[in-house]
Amino acid sequence: MTKILLDTHVHTISSGHAYSTILECIDQAFLKKLDLIAITDHGPLLSGSTKIHHFGNLKSLPRKIKRENKILEVLYGVEANIINYSADLDLPNGILDQLDIIIASLHHPCIRSKGDNTDLIISVLENKRVNILGHPNDLQYLFDIKKVVDKAKETDTIIEINNSTLKQSNLRFGARDILKEILLECKKKSCYVILSSDAHFALDIAELDLAIDLLKEIKFPDDLVLNTSTELFKNVLNLKK
Ligand SMILES: [Zn+2]
Ligand SMILES: [Zn+2]
Repeated sequence: MTKILLDTHVHTISSGHAYSTILECIDQAFLKKLDLIAITDHGPLLSGSTKIHHFGNLKSLPRKIKRENKILEVLYGVEANIINYSADLDLPNGILDQLDIIIASLHHPCIRSKGDNTDLIISVLENKRVNILGHPNDLQYLFDIKKVVDKAKETDTIIEINNSTLKQSNLRFGARDILKEILLECKKKSCYVILSSDAHFALDIAELDLAIDLLKEIKFPDDLVLNTSTELFKNVLNLKK
């Protein structure tokens, strides 16, 4: 695979159960020679995470940081919780509209699975504000893969390949098998995907080995992987605006 230039899912101490500051994350992004990093702390409904006002003030942070000859672009957004079967998120639209990037994820205990979550996820993808469907390979929240990938393609929503969900502790739940099925469908339909670390500690930023191994295994086309071009990634983000 061509070089990984961006990591779009990173948590800081503001999430409550993550352990690095924004500056520590930025330091790591420079060390790993990334072009872009997205700070996406958990939405307010997840226990211990930060409050609405935190997200409302992200506009005060710098989007470009220069060190020596390298410029790092920093996006500030949220990993929002889907909170009900109307697919509402846990931040008001007025705040969401100020953010650079919005990942929408299903998290226990913010919402209970109904068994088949296809209609719910389709409503999430139809939300113009949602850029990325976070960790769709959670066996607690099953859905019809074909219908969801079709809708992601139709709505220009990016499917996330979350490296953290491929770590050993999750494999016994089948997280890799489900993700493989989703990716095969994305390959078939030419649907964009993004690899993310979901780092809760700065040293994990851009650590994507398990996700890359999976893509290699199924010969997933590089040109659908948005981590390889910041320009393409931003173009795809803008498609939904
Ligand atoms: Zn999550
Ligand atoms: Zn996360």
